[in-house]
Amino acid sequence: MIDTPKYQALLENIKNQYDKHITIKIVNDINQFCKQHGVNIGNHSPFSPAIALKPRTIVIASQIDKDSPIERIERCGFKNIVEQLRINDVDFLIHLLLHELAHLLNNWPQEHECDCDKWAFEEMRKLKQIVKYDLNDLEIYDTANSFLIRSKKWRKTK
Ligand SMILES: [Zn+2]
Repeated sequence: MIDTPKYQALLENIKNQYDKHITIKIVNDINQFCKQHGVNIGNHSPFSPAIALKPRTIVIASQIDKDSPIERIERCGFKNIVEQLRINDVDFLIHLLLHELAHLLNNWPQEHECDCDKWAFEEMRKLKQIVKYDLNDLEIYDTANSFLIRSKKWRKTK
């Protein structure tokens, strides 16, 4: 299980690279959140760990089980690259966030799941050039504090 709040600063930082006006909400229960806010989630999977709500909100579950989202990404044909998400929680979360950003920024509805995944992988590649983070450097992302070290470096390299 991924403990999403631990990575909130990282997610905010990446989101701000795209659109500062988008709000990230980390919630215990996405379906309940949507019900409470009168949002009709349509054919969105009830097991999905995140949802993009127009115009500018991304809701992410506070506890994420990676298995079913990874299966979905595999079904879109990203068989090799998905391994990176399986072994690295940070990469998984970044991809998840970028996938939701893809819905909002490109105005792509639910039917564009695979397009959103593809866009997210492409953006991850670009981000890695900016952030220059090492995929295998897992310990860097282990704590909220060590991410701060990373984000300073990020600002420097931009
Ligand atoms: Zn989606």
